[in-house]
Amino acid sequence: MSRPLRVAVVGAGPAGIYASDLLVKSGEDVKIDLFERMPAPFGLIRYGVAPDHPRIKGIVRSLHNVLDKPEIRLLGNIEIGTDISVDELREFYDAIVFSTGATGDRELRIAGSELEGSYGAGQFVGFYDGNPDFSRDWDLSAEKVAVIGVGNVALDIARILAKTADELKVTEIPDNVYENLAGNRAKEVHIFGRRGPAQAKFTPMELKELDHSESIEVIVDPEDIDYDAASEQARRDSKSQDLVCQTLEGYAIRDPKDAPHKLFIHFFESPVEILGEDGKVVGLKTERTELDGEGGVQGTGKFTTWDVQAVYRAVGYRSEAVEGVPFDAERAVIPNDGGRVLDPETDSPVPGLYATGWIKRGPVGLIGNTKSDAKDTTGMLLDDWKAGSLAAPAKPEENAVVEFLESRGIAVTTWEGWYRLDAAEREAGEAEGRERKKIVEWDEMVQHSGPEYEI
Ligand SMILES: Cc1cc2nc3c(=O)[nH]c(=O)nc-3n(C[C@H](O)[C@H](O)[C@H](O)COP(=O)(O)OP(=O)(O)OC[C@H]3O[C@@H](n4cnc5c(N)ncnc54)[C@H](O)[C@@H]3O)c2cc1C
Repeated sequence: MSRPLRVAVVGAGPAGIYASDLLVKSGEDVKIDLFERMPAPFGLIRYGVAPDHPRIKGIVRSLHNVLDKPEIRLLGNIEIGTDISVDELREFYDAIVFSTGATGDRELRIAGSELEGSYGAGQFVGFYDGNPDFSRDWDLSAEKVAVIGVGNVALDIARILAKTADELKVTEIPDNVYENLAGNRAKEVHIFGRRGPAQAKFTPMELKELDHSESIEVIVDPEDIDYDAASEQARRDSKSQDLVCQTLEGYAIRDPKDAPHKLFIHFFESPVEILGEDGKVVGLKTERTELDGEGGVQGTGKFTTWDVQAVYRAVGYRSEAVEGVPFDAERAVIPNDGGRVLDPETDSPVPGLYATGWIKRGPVGLIGNTKSDAKDTTGMLLDDWKAGSLAAPAKPEENAVVEFLESRGIAVTTWEGWYRLDAAEREAGEAEGRERKKIVEWDEMVQHSGPEYEI
């Protein structure tokens, strides 16, 4: 008797949700269990995208349509590799797709990174986005702050630090975040990039948006606008890069604005050491660089010390390994060939295991990019299914996995549960005239969205 293809998708961020959608749309008889470590779905849309980006957060609305589909069952509050092993999971499914994304900060190996007042960007993002895994309190006593990195996450950090708490109050930020931000003393935020404007990783819209806040003046030193032949080529090759350069040039030549918070973007300054006294950050030392003609830079031996009391290292996110799944520790991805997970010993595919999204190709790119990842990965999975190369699971019945989880005493959160949590957050927000106010505590999230719902 034929039975549906049973797929476990691990990680309910955009990559996992798009993969589930494509599998359902494939026309095959398929049933998907979408596992998520957090009590709530949506990955970095909920816990990465900045609160003052409601349009991007709104992508959740289109993902709702996917999770409403009867072929997809959300099983939240379950960490694969910890609460249930990958071998145990294989007993229930024909195939497993890993879409576990990234949460940690990539390390910046410079002296002083360990000082008090030196933070990974991901920690601060976790705080202001109300991720229960991160601190509820943040020391915002620094008047001058450095942000290392020239990507969109660096812009998010700088913008949140430079805006007033009241500008952010209209967003979904929880009370503890508002209260902390209300005590923020930052007057100057300095972003530092090792290379030049043509090598910056900002996207044009995010860079322009910095200037929309009345309380922020964006300042670029005209000396920092410099291009070599490779930079000019980069501008010709990419319209987006050219727009970034044009926007930075605009910031560099305009008249000063009288805004209370100054946001400087410095290029050609390579951070070499975070300076400390009594274990606390008191400055940042950078070396001036210059273009080498090929889009790279070389040091000039000219050093500057910047008077800052906090340093945020926004040099990229990093994925974590899932116990029982191959992991390339250097690239911090699951080794794969277009989506099929590879055994690092033999370099050949591990039957039935797939990867998609940031865990497949590293933590770069926008939410939209995870759609194309999902297309490639699910295409391979379906090819393997049709070719009969997936091993049949021992327990393919739909309820077998739920009974197993119950036997482990795991409080599984569900899609119906998300609707309750969502309603509770909206209600809390509406009382203050805003769309939503996030619930931060893990237990409280589970109380709304878990099986013992009784609020
Ligand atoms: C700070 C920040 C701001 C961003 N802002 C924007 C923006 O404005 N616009 C934009 O387009 N893109 C933005 N991005 C990029 C966007 O968030 C990513 O492209 C996208 O989220 C990657 O999707 P993903 O599904 O691969 O990973 P994720 O979104 O990280 O989702 C992975 C999910 O897997 C879960 N998981 C992990 N391990 C396990 C496990 N063992 N068991 C079960 N579940 C697990 C995680 O909890 C998470 O929910 C931003 C990223 C960051 C970091």
